[in-house]
Amino acid sequence: MDTIGVFTSGGDAPGMNACLRAVVRTALGAGLGVVGIRRGYAGMLCGEFEEMSRASVSNIIQLGGTIIKTARSEEFRRAEQRAQAASLVKEAGIEGLIAIGGDGTFRGAQRLWEEHSIPIIGVPATIDNDIYGTDETIGYDTAVNTALDAIDNIRDTATSHERLFFVEVMGRDAGFIALSVGAAGGAEMILVPEHGLSVRDMHDTILAGIGQGKTSSIIVVAEGDEEGGALEIAHKVRELGGVECRATILGHTQRGGRPTARDRILASELGAAAVRALLDGERGKMVGRVNAEIRLTPLPDSWGKKKPFDQRLYELALALAA
Ligand code: ADP
Repeated sequence: MDTIGVFTSGGDAPGMNACLRAVVRTALGAGLGVVGIRRGYAGMLCGEFEEMSRASVSNIIQLGGTIIKTARSEEFRRAEQRAQAASLVKEAGIEGLIAIGGDGTFRGAQRLWEEHSIPIIGVPATIDNDIYGTDETIGYDTAVNTALDAIDNIRDTATSHERLFFVEVMGRDAGFIALSVGAAGGAEMILVPEHGLSVRDMHDTILAGIGQGKTSSIIVVAEGDEEGGALEIAHKVRELGGVECRATILGHTQRGGRPTARDRILASELGAAAVRALLDGERGKMVGRVNAEIRLTPLPDSWGKKKPFDQRLYELALALAA
């Protein structure tokens, strides 16, 4: 293998740049040429390739987002379009690929490997942490800390005005961000898709809290909660009566920003491991870190198997907030 390609795809995540830096510099150090593919699969489909050097990834370890851009591409879901992308990749002399992204990115990567035999390794980068085969995904720690800052701020207002706030955090169908933020922010309740809590039960708990003298509360809501988002839940709780409340959606503020040290280190380790995996002849796999060790997982397991929810932390957080 003489030349590899690297791209970032799907939702951006803090630490993607640190990962890109690690991929480029590890590959160059191993004597490989490195091509950066701009705008994920969208750029691959129109041959947006650029030669990468050590200097092209200078001073990016601390930057959020991704300097080679990211995109979503509906076209890439079609087999004929993927064939077009694969031939452009091969024509450019790219013999292996490193895909930095989330589960959608990995589904596309698996197709490139199966249909066109392009050796490919995935690196998990998404704030949602909803990927099997790694304890944490790149970007998750930063997103949790960004949301936590916001919650600490809201706590000041909640306490001063003696109010109940519903705060919605990201996470798609998973409650990982909500659980970490709720536990670290001392939230009175954490609403996650993994634990269906009805609005009526929630309302009862809130009233019981008020009865015991609680004057302010923060309830963290995962965006994928079955009862709806923060606005909808706040509306339903108000309708049941006896509770004044506000709702805040943190939204895209959680996606960007300077990556934390933890994310930069994870990104560096996984980026370097991805290059080594390609050179070792691994294909169609994802690199992850489990119990402080690098582990390879077949790409289909990364989205097909369910990452366990930390039930113990959930119960601890609720017990401590009661
Ligand atoms: P993420 O990687 O963050 O989960 P998306 O789910 O948006 O982001 O996926 C990124 C891109 O991966 C999509 O825009 C599409 O081009 C490609 N992709 C996703 N699912 C598939 C699939 N089943 N087959 C082929 N390509 C896919």
